[in-house]
Amino acid sequence: MRDHHIDLCGQIDFTRTEAMPLLAREAHFSFACNGCGDCCRGREDIVLSGFDLWRIAARLHLPPQIVARGFCRASIGMVSHLPVLRLAPVKENRNNCPFLTENHCAIHDAEPLVCALYPLAQEISRDGQVSYFLQPTGCGGQVIEARVQDYLARYDVPAREATDVRWAQTCMALEDTVEQLEAALGPVLVRRMQAKLWQALYFDYNFAQPFLPQLERNLGWLQGEMAKLTAYQAKLKYVSK
Ligand code: SF4
Ligand code: SF4
Repeated sequence: MRDHHIDLCGQIDFTRTEAMPLLAREAHFSFACNGCGDCCRGREDIVLSGFDLWRIAARLHLPPQIVARGFCRASIGMVSHLPVLRLAPVKENRNNCPFLTENHCAIHDAEPLVCALYPLAQEISRDGQVSYFLQPTGCGGQVIEARVQDYLARYDVPAREATDVRWAQTCMALEDTVEQLEAALGPVLVRRMQAKLWQALYFDYNFAQPFLPQLERNLGWLQGEMAKLTAYQAKLKYVSK
C-alpha cells in the first residue's frame, strides 16, 4: 500500500525517487525562482483534501459543495477508488488557477497544502510519520535558501499536521474498504457509495465549525451507510436467486 504524497487521495502516479530524499526538519534546502507565477498556471495536480476545501469554504463564506462546483474538477481516483478533488485551471484565462489574480493568490491565508508546501512535498506513512522532500522545479532565477522547519512555519503547516495525518490515514483505510465493496456491489450501488463518500469526506461540513469533529462524525455515518449498502446488495442477490 502506498504512503500518501502531495496528491493525498489522488490518482497521480507520483513516486518519490532517490533523487528526492526525505529532509530532516533542521536541514537546509534551496531552489531557484524568478517569481513568474507559472506554478499557479496549467496545474492539474493541485489536489484538495476535505480540510483544504473546508478552509477555502470558510475563507469565501460558501458551502464546500458550492466551492467545489465553482472552482474544482471532481473525479474518482483510479488507484485509490476514492473521490479526488482538484483545482480546475481556467482555460479562458491562460489556464490560470481560478484563485490567481494578478500574480497573487486570492485565498492566500487558506491556500491548499500543496501550494503552501511548494516546492516541498509531504509524505505520510501508515503509522502517521510525516516527512518532507524537495520536488525538482526546473526553474531558474534567484536562489532561495531555507531551513525546512522555517519554510513550513511560514504558512503554519505544522499546526495542521495532525489534521493532515488523520485525513491521510482515513484515506488509506478507506481505500481498502472501498476496493472490497466495489467488488461486491452492483454498479448502481457503487455510484450510491461514491456519493456517500463525497458527502462524508468533502461536502457535509459547516465552515463555521471545526473540521476534525465533523470528519469523525461523518466517518461514523459513512460506516453505517456502507453496512446498509452491503446488506441491501446481499438482499438483492437473495431475491434474484
Ligand atoms: S517556482 Fe518556478 S514557476 Fe513558480 S513562480 Fe518560481 S520560477 Fe515561476
Ligand atoms: S490556490 Fe493560490 S497558490 Fe495555489 S495554485 Fe491557486 S493561486 Fe496559486
